[in-house]
Amino acid sequence: MNDFSSSPYYELFSKQSINQYAVGNRTYKERLKILNKLQQAIEVTYRTQIQVALQKDLGKPVVETELTEIYAIIGDIKFAKQNLHKWIRKQTVDTPIAMLGSSSYIKYEPKGVCLIISPWNFPFNLTFGPLVSAIAAGNTVIIKPSEMTPNASELMAKIIADLFSEDEVAVIQGEVEVSTQLLKLPFNHIFFTGSPNVGKVVMKAASEHLASVTLELGGKSPTLIDKTANIDKAAKKIMWAKFLNCGQICVSPDYVLIDESVKTQFIDACKKWLQTFYNDNPKASDSYGRIVTDKHFERLSSHLENAKKLDAKFEVGGETDSDSKYIEPTIISDLKPEAQLLEDEIFGPILPIVTYESLDMAIAYVNSKPRPLALYIYSKNKANINKILNNSRAGGTCINNSVLHYTNHNLPFGGVNNSGIGKSHGFYGFQAFSNARSVMKQHTFGVTELLFPPYTGFKEKLAQLTIKWF
Ligand code: NAD
Repeated sequence: MNDFSSSPYYELFSKQSINQYAVGNRTYKERLKILNKLQQAIEVTYRTQIQVALQKDLGKPVVETELTEIYAIIGDIKFAKQNLHKWIRKQTVDTPIAMLGSSSYIKYEPKGVCLIISPWNFPFNLTFGPLVSAIAAGNTVIIKPSEMTPNASELMAKIIADLFSEDEVAVIQGEVEVSTQLLKLPFNHIFFTGSPNVGKVVMKAASEHLASVTLELGGKSPTLIDKTANIDKAAKKIMWAKFLNCGQICVSPDYVLIDESVKTQFIDACKKWLQTFYNDNPKASDSYGRIVTDKHFERLSSHLENAKKLDAKFEVGGETDSDSKYIEPTIISDLKPEAQLLEDEIFGPILPIVTYESLDMAIAYVNSKPRPLALYIYSKNKANINKILNNSRAGGTCINNSVLHYTNHNLPFGGVNNSGIGKSHGFYGFQAFSNARSVMKQHTFGVTELLFPPYTGFKEKLAQLTIKWF
């Protein structure tokens, strides 16, 4: 066991630890009040500052900020407010007849002191989204946002300091070293969003105190297109989903697996839609973003170089500009299996196209890689859709669309194995930050008392009867 009292954040942690019961015992109305306060801050007070921060950090168009950050958080808050009364009331369950004289229920109680570590690609959404669930469930929270988006992190620290006392919710900014120090503390729950590699570091640290974890990770999310699909509509939706936030989305279509016979038709349709979305020069388009840091720009540029070296075919794009961290929307086909673009999660505006001869081969290709966060299917053939669904595994799936399953609060969101552990959003987010405490209450004489020692012959018979009948 490490010595967590030496962590520079021990004092803050202790304050939250003491305050956790007061926060956890807040009534439904008091929790609503806090959610309303947060809503007011995001929707009104800080809305313009959020837009400006994301423009500075990610060159994010205002409409994208409105939809993928502001609307997403407000949607989370409204959904929590509408459903919280159902989530926090005790959930009565049946009691077996052998326990006659008692009743049982589940009490969703707060986990306690929680840590949220968030990434840079949707800094507000992926920090405040989990925070809404944590607050709804009655926890105290320490947040460590990403150092890659300093303007967003600074503003989040300001918003939280404005709304909460530090013994309730606090933001600690900084790089890996800060995360490392925080991870030494015995949190009751850790909610991490980021890469699978760092997810492993977080899980290892959590194991020291047996803290529960939600790991929202990434990986390569495939898009399967068969020859029955409406190719034009598929291209439109995939071009939007792939190049939104410059491809820097965990559920971004990472690569396309398409029936050979419709490949050319698909690429032509993609060219048409890219032209419609971003004109001939995406660099000058107000609707197209930029790569977050020089490091990520270099990583993606090296993927392009690697593809060129391996004689891949650039169907669209390929232009880059290091000064503005611009990478043109790019579509590449004829990649050799060893190409970096087919190995690592791309997390940028480059779409590899891989063709298949049979659906079985396509499914085998997907299953040869770690289980994805999202798997997209474009098809009009029910049998093909079911075949893919039944013979693959993924965190979530959209059929004849991309990305949008993320936005339905009634669906659990999260990965499986390499793409994540645990689920978030709506009730599933509330559940992640809650302990489902089982409560059994004895009202009258319990028949089980008849079985207490000493174990006479009569009791042996009674035990046998219990096994047989109850
Ligand atoms: P990252 O894993 O590099 O960083 C995430 C957070 O962890 C940051 O706050 C960072 O400071 C911290 N961190 C980095 N290294 C650490 C270490 N060694 N120990 C402790 N903390 C550390 O991820 P990123 O680059 O910010 O985001 C991109 C990744 O996140 C992609 O893989 C993407 O798919 C994934 N992602 C997943 C989701 C989801 O909901 N499943 C959402 C967004 C992004």
